[in-house]
Amino acid sequence: MPTTIVRCNLDGCRAPAAYKIAATWSDGSLSELKSYGFTCADHLGPVFREAEQRHLRYHPASGENVEELGIYKYEQGKRDRALQRLWGLEENYRS
Ligand SMILES: [Zn+2]
Repeated sequence: MPTTIVRCNLDGCRAPAAYKIAATWSDGSLSELKSYGFTCADHLGPVFREAEQRHLRYHPASGENVEELGIYKYEQGKRDRALQRLWGLEENYRS
């Protein structure tokens, strides 16, 4: 099975993603991790801040709920629900 390498979202960076930036989205019956970006270990700061801007601008439709942005340890092939949320890291980057 071919695997797609997910790379850092920062322009010009070719490093594989180490973190996924995402927020839990739900509409009352379904819930999933809505992805806001992927980043390598070096670019978590700029990529998180850019994701935060998009997250702040997003206005959920009625019935939709988007929770705060989180940083998850990204592991290739792992399902969203299995990703580990890195609460300690988020404290360093949240503005
Ligand atoms: Zn990078």
